Amino acid sequence: SETVLEVRDLVKHFPVRQGVPRRTVGVLKAVDGVSLELRAGETLGVVGESGCGKSTLARMLTAHERPTSGEVTVLGRSLLDLRGRELRRARRHIQLVFQDPYTSLDPRMTVAEAVREPYDVNPDLAPRRDRDRLARDLLEVVGLSPGHGDRYPHQLSGGQRQRVGIARALALRPRVLVCDEPVSALDVSVQAQIVNLLERLREEFGLAYVFIAHDLGVVQHLADRVAVMYLGKVVETGPEADVYGSAAHPYTQALLSAAPVPDPALRGTRQEIVLDGEPPSPVDPPAGCSFHPRCWKAVASCAERPPALEPVAHPRHVAACHLRT
Ligand code: SF4
Ligand code: MG
Repeated sequence: SETVLEVRDLVKHFPVRQGVPRRTVGVLKAVDGVSLELRAGETLGVVGESGCGKSTLARMLTAHERPTSGEVTVLGRSLLDLRGRELRRARRHIQLVFQDPYTSLDPRMTVAEAVREPYDVNPDLAPRRDRDRLARDLLEVVGLSPGHGDRYPHQLSGGQRQRVGIARALALRPRVLVCDEPVSALDVSVQAQIVNLLERLREEFGLAYVFIAHDLGVVQHLADRVAVMYLGKVVETGPEADVYGSAAHPYTQALLSAAPVPDPALRGTRQEIVLDGEPPSPVDPPAGCSFHPRCWKAVASCAERPPALEPVAHPRHVAACHLRT
């Protein structure tokens, strides 16, 4: 099927400044050469610990942030060449769903106003007289009643607010939703409801998702493919069954071993791999393989030579590890 999103060598480096007068003392490599591809109707899960660059990646995919270099192509058009009205138009095809919609919803706007706002910003998409009805219809689509439209964000539960965030993202009929940890601020019982809603909307609206999460458990159900990020780089990617069934990168193996085991019969059969400490700072990351200070499989050459993404068992499953198995 058609490629809806293509990302080539995406980089975002932030200068780190210190002192008086301020001098640049380093470079924070938030995203450091990420390439991805997403086909119509597909879900790509992007997983990694906080600070690995997932949110910066999400903001670049949706043109909320300009990359240092690299390319983002949505439905065949490069977002980076566009400005103003043209950018706004291209951007309607790829929308961002935030982790906590409370911070992205204007507290002074009713829910209905928040959902109709995208139409007001893109007036050629819907005549003024239709916008209220369209907004109320969208609330119904995400499982809220028309009455919710008159409430304010603070009068809603976390799950209801996330439904509003999703309705708002759907208003412009995008082809791709980039969901940045859409359920991690919610209670476990509500998480499943939102994941189920996203799954239903994928069919109903023919959507493709980039679904970002910090643990592998959340994305397994929804994802067709998975990309694991570490310090700004993708270290392993492949079809869901390969990444979960035969992870090749020690970091992926550690994340998997730490994920809760849903089947009680399997509990205790798996050895948990405990990683030492927090991920190092993305400012001046470790040389060679940046995972080497925490890797229990590391050999001497790991600190010298950075591993490239190479095929594991078949070309669609790749990992960046000298010892990939
Ligand atoms: Fe570990 Fe070396 Fe593989 Fe990096 S390249 S993940 S340090 S074994
Ligand atoms: Mg984040």
